[in-house]
Amino acid sequence: MQQSLAIFGVTGSIGDNTLDLVDSHSERFRVSVLTAHDNIAKLAALAEKYRPELVVVSNAAMADAARDALSGFSGDIAFGEAGLAAAADYPVDIAVMAIVGFAALAPTLALIEAGRHIALANKECLVVAGDVMMQRAHQCGALLLPVDSEHNAIFQLLDGRDAEQLDRVVLTASGGPFLDFEAAALVDVSPEMAKKHPNWDMGAKISVDSATMMNKGLELIEAHHLFGLSPERLDVLVHPQSIVHGLAYFADGSVLAHKANADMRIPLSYCLAYPERLPQNPAPLDLVQAGRLDFLPPDRVRFRCLALAEAAMRAGGLMPTILNGANEVAVEAFLGGHIGFTEIADCVEMAMEAASHDEEAGLTGDFRAVLTQITACDSRTREKTGQIIAGKQRK
Ligand code: NAD
Ligand code: MG
Repeated sequence: MQQSLAIFGVTGSIGDNTLDLVDSHSERFRVSVLTAHDNIAKLAALAEKYRPELVVVSNAAMADAARDALSGFSGDIAFGEAGLAAAADYPVDIAVMAIVGFAALAPTLALIEAGRHIALANKECLVVAGDVMMQRAHQCGALLLPVDSEHNAIFQLLDGRDAEQLDRVVLTASGGPFLDFEAAALVDVSPEMAKKHPNWDMGAKISVDSATMMNKGLELIEAHHLFGLSPERLDVLVHPQSIVHGLAYFADGSVLAHKANADMRIPLSYCLAYPERLPQNPAPLDLVQAGRLDFLPPDRVRFRCLALAEAAMRAGGLMPTILNGANEVAVEAFLGGHIGFTEIADCVEMAMEAASHDEEAGLTGDFRAVLTQITACDSRTREKTGQIIAGKQRK
């Protein structure tokens, strides 16, 4: 029987990879719901091709343009936050969450509360609200399947085993395009340079995060929640070839490594077909051709964002929300040409240092109260980081 899909953030890089799998397995998957934020032309073309039942334009300001572009579409169209809520409410077999950033939190929680199978690509929602998400997923019978390649690797290595049996987990990092840059050369990095990842073709925000290594820091916090591992049991190794994606160290000294080509369709297909494996025809992994596989410790001085994320993970509470909100604002400012590459870490550090006593005190109350605190902290952090950036520009 065909499985129905909702794809949130379909116009991005994960969206492209998901639709590629749908195209090569049209007997198995059909598209019921599509959402996008502002690439209306692409959304309209996808709506015409896949004929979903519901299309959502999450940026309400685009409603008029979207109605025009989708005038030939006969299914339902919805807008803004209410539209995303309707998409999360729509009964499908699998929801792919590929919205970037904090914006994914509300629809992901709605999917969790509806008890869905979620192929979760977005990492920012776990960074800010991992405890609440894991707790609600357990209560509501939702299944969170990690799409992020490193977490997908660990999920596969655990293969149903309890994370309790693990000694520790190592996530690999390519090191990004500036792995061999001297600290002084990082100052002159342009958005174009930062968007070009050596091994993966991804959206702008995650590409910049990979270049600063904030991405690996966010991924540590993501793993901390997904697998219930304390910060001391999580580490990072730089592995420039991106063949090994994760390492699971077990108590008996065995270390399992997950290997695959750097192709997001592989972890995505694992989530879509779970617990089966989708027969695919990817280029086979050729270890002879790959040649040497190198592993080295990360440099937390040149790539300060990694150290900041680790500090936020250890602090817990609202600190990861501050880290994430400041980073989202700073990356956008960098992409817009308003701050330099190394100033991203400055902004995040200043926002974390400016945390109030209340913010440092952590989260209290039931899960609704906790979410309110997280959302308020995210808004405050965005405002503060905007001021930090304005201050830098005046200098
Ligand atoms: P992208 O920028 O290419 O696409 C983002 C999608 O989100 C687009 O469809 C866009 O319309 C939508 N969107 C943007 N802002 C929105 C908002 N405010 N509200 C609702 N929708 C919004 O990003 P991507 O590279 O596909 O990554 C998506 C998520 O998956 C990110 O959280 C990223 O960290 C994670 N991820 C991506 C990859 C990858 O290979 N691209 C790998 C691992 C994890
Ligand atoms: Mg990753």
